[in-house]
Amino acid sequence: MLPTQDPCTQPGLLHPAKAIEQLLAQVTPIEETELVSLSQATGRVLAEDLASSIDLPPFDNSAMDGYAFAYADVKPETSKQEFTLVGSSFAGHPFTGEAKPGSCIRIMTGAPVPAGFDTVQMQEKTSANGDSISIEIPARQGANVRRQGEELTAGTKVLRQGCIIRAAEMGVLATIGVSHVRVKRKMTVAFFSTGDELRPVGSELAPGQIYDSNRYSIQGLLTKANIEWIDLGVIPDDKEAIRGAFKEAADKADMVLTSGGVSVGDADYTKQILSEEGEITFWRLAIKPGKPFAFGKLDGAVFCGLPGNPVSSMVTFYKLVWPIINKMQGLPPAKPLTCKATLTSDIRKQPGRFEYQRGIVTANENGELTVATTGGQGSGMLTSMSMANCFILLEQQQGDTPAGSTVIIEPFNTVLD
Ligand code: AMP
Ligand code: MG
Repeated sequence: MLPTQDPCTQPGLLHPAKAIEQLLAQVTPIEETELVSLSQATGRVLAEDLASSIDLPPFDNSAMDGYAFAYADVKPETSKQEFTLVGSSFAGHPFTGEAKPGSCIRIMTGAPVPAGFDTVQMQEKTSANGDSISIEIPARQGANVRRQGEELTAGTKVLRQGCIIRAAEMGVLATIGVSHVRVKRKMTVAFFSTGDELRPVGSELAPGQIYDSNRYSIQGLLTKANIEWIDLGVIPDDKEAIRGAFKEAADKADMVLTSGGVSVGDADYTKQILSEEGEITFWRLAIKPGKPFAFGKLDGAVFCGLPGNPVSSMVTFYKLVWPIINKMQGLPPAKPLTCKATLTSDIRKQPGRFEYQRGIVTANENGELTVATTGGQGSGMLTSMSMANCFILLEQQQGDTPAGSTVIIEPFNTVLD
């Protein structure tokens, strides 16, 4: 029997973390910014630090529907006390009268607490008899009052450059009265698929042909990430056709993304064209799926070549292209959330490469996470990505892993959100 090669030291396979480090060193963030109205800002990257020009809350206001009074008027050792009703404060309609000693006002949630009053008791702990209001005295002065500036004071930085404006940030910006916001220019990615066997959806398949799926999964990923994209279609395995597509893509976009034609023996056209027109490096990564990957530059655009196998193409997008896009968009490095889960099915794995097996994670009744694989893990089985809600991360040296083992998982969606 021939001695087997140590699978953990497969020559020429690069550790994915090293690859990412080297790739990121070669890209720079897009500098251009633009001013957009707040309603156009969702998903954009903030280009400046933003401070609030107002206190939050901007005025003392009630956290409850009830009655406002002055705690100083409360007699010692009293648990319940009568106050005289002198008016009301509704949201948007402040009380304009005087806070006389022993008086109270009817107050609604969000309504200003007038000067002179400082405490609110909720409706349920009061009773009215004409203008005489009996109030259970709360334990603390200032109860149920949201004080001016208690969240933050004017001048405080609320959002930092490089944050993505999501639903909460939209609301925060509105809270501080920002109508327009300076954001990074949107990044544009042009992509095409290569392969004579590929047909676009909507056409008939001849023997040996398959539908091009990668353009659609890439489209889905880019759309979700709020990135402008240009779909250049399927380009046949023809040197001049590929050259034309590369030039058009580099001309129109910040990044050119292709799928297919980066594995050994298959890479000829991409290699030839990019060596002539720009620069290219072929990477062989210690990951599965997704060993081959190409990276280069062409006319000021960054080029990423994904492998053709549909799962490999998505995994390399998540693991390599996504950090590059992140940096180009001016975002801080993303660190996907990982956690432990108990495996409920056996996993087959050969030591040698990091694996991103597709898993389905669920929480049991105690909130503990269990994870099962989606079944077949072939790099062409794209339904495994559709069924999955997480990657099961398996270390390079790890072999078969039985049910009951604790594994590390990386939920999807936190990556691109
Ligand atoms: P390649 O990387 O070009 O050698 O392709 C590897 C495998 O992925 C082959 O089985 C291809 O038919 C398949 N493939 C390549 N590109 C696509 C695509 N855009 N959509 C679906 N399958 C593809
Ligand atoms: Mg091909």
